[in-house]
Amino acid sequence: MRPRRAEFDWLRREPLRTLLAILNGDGIETRVVGGAVRDALIGREIGDVDLATTGLPEEIARRATLAGFRPVPTGLEHGTVTVVADGRAFEVTTLRHDVETDGRRAVVRFGNDWEEDARRRDFTMNALYVEADGTIQDPLGGCEDALAGRVRFIGEAERRIAEDHLRILRFFRFHAGYGQGDPQPADLAACVRLRLTLLRLSAERVRQEMLRLLVPPRAAAALRVMSETGILQIVIGGVDRLPAFERLARLEETLDEAAEPVRRLGALAVIVEEDASRLFDRLRLSKVESRRLLAMAEARPRLKSPADEAPAKEVLYRNGPELYADIVRHAAASEARDADALAGWHDLVRLPQRWTAPAFPLNGGDVAALGARGREIGQTLKALEAAWIAGGFSGGREHWLARAAELLPRG
Ligand code: ATP
Ligand code: MG
Repeated sequence: MRPRRAEFDWLRREPLRTLLAILNGDGIETRVVGGAVRDALIGREIGDVDLATTGLPEEIARRATLAGFRPVPTGLEHGTVTVVADGRAFEVTTLRHDVETDGRRAVVRFGNDWEEDARRRDFTMNALYVEADGTIQDPLGGCEDALAGRVRFIGEAERRIAEDHLRILRFFRFHAGYGQGDPQPADLAACVRLRLTLLRLSAERVRQEMLRLLVPPRAAAALRVMSETGILQIVIGGVDRLPAFERLARLEETLDEAAEPVRRLGALAVIVEEDASRLFDRLRLSKVESRRLLAMAEARPRLKSPADEAPAKEVLYRNGPELYADIVRHAAASEARDADALAGWHDLVRLPQRWTAPAFPLNGGDVAALGARGREIGQTLKALEAAWIAGGFSGGREHWLARAAELLPRG
C-alpha cells in the first residue's frame, strides 16, 4: 500500500508531539492507531488518542517517566501502559499477536510486526496508523473503507467473531457511527449466525458497546437491522420499540438536544417496570440509570396526552426536574403517532422552565402536633398532599392545617 502523508495538526500539538518524540527512536517505533486516525481521516473531531508501539511496556514506562509524564500500568498482561500527560490519558500498547483465544479473552505475545498488529484488529477502518510525521500506514485498505462508510471485518468474519463475540456489537456500533448504506452482507450474515454467542459476554462489555451504539446519527438504521435479524432482542432480552426510538431521536433533533444513551435505551426497550429491571441486570446499569428507566415505566400510564398539564405537574412534583426530563420525553416518544403529535409535546417538555413545583406546606411535625400518632402521621400527610396536588397545588399552610384538623378528630 502506498503511504500517504496527512497534515494533521493535532499530531504536532502538545503533549502528543512530545510523547511521540520520546517514544520513537533508539530502536523503537510508535504510531497513533485506531479511532483517532480514522476520525481525523474523515474530518471528524478526534476522541482519545491510542498509540501502538514496538517498545516493551517497561521501556514505555521508563521513557514516559523521564519526560515527566506519569505511566500507569493499566493492562500490563496485554502490553498496555496508560501515559498521563498534561492531564490527558494515552493508551500505549505494544504490538502483539494473539496466541490463543476462547471467545472472551486473548493470550498475547509481544511482537514487532505492524501488519500482524493490524490483522488482530476488528474492522479495516480501525486498522489505520499514522506516524509522528503524518505518514499514514494503511496495510489493509482501511482508508478507502472509512471514507466510503464500509464497516468491514478484517479476515473471515465468522472466525473473528468466534475469537471475540463482542465484535458483533462493535459491527453495529461502527455501522451506526460510520456506516453508509446497508451493512456488508457477508459480515452481517456471520453476525446473525453467531448471534447467540452474545449471551456469553459479560454484562459490562455489552453495556459499553450497546450504550455507545444508541447515540450516533445512524443508530436507528443499525438498530433496525439488529431487530430484523433477532440480534437486538437477544441483547435486550425482550421486545424493542424502534418507532418510539425514532420519535425520541426526532424530538431531540427538533429541540436541538444532544442524544443521551439511557434515555434512548428507555425509548427503545422500556414499556413496563419489568423491562427496566431486566435491563439493569443485562447491561449492569448503575442504580441511577436503572432508577431513570423505572421512572419512565412507572409514569408512562399517567402521561397519555400532551393536552393535560395537571398529570405532568404531578409527575414533575413527585420526581423532580431531572427525572421529569426523561419521563416526558419517554411519554412523547411512546404516545405521539406522527410529527404533528410529537410537536404537540414540546410544551410539556418545557414545563419545568415555566413552573417550579412548590413544597407541600405541612410536615410530619404539624400533623403530630394535631394528635396523629405512628403510621397515622404518614397516612394523613399523604392524603392531604394528594388533595393538595388534585387541587392544583393551591392553599397555604393555614388552609391545610385546618383540613388536617378535620381529618384528625382527636386534634
Ligand atoms: P472510539 O473513537 O469510538 O473509541 P475506537 O476505534 O478508538 O473508536 P475502541 O473501542 O476505543 O474504538 O478501540 C480502539 C482500537 O482497538 C480499535 O480501533 C480497534 O483497532 C481495536 N479494538 C478494540 N476492540 C476490539 C475488539 N474487540 N477486537 C478487535 N480489535 C479491537
Ligand atoms: Mg477509543
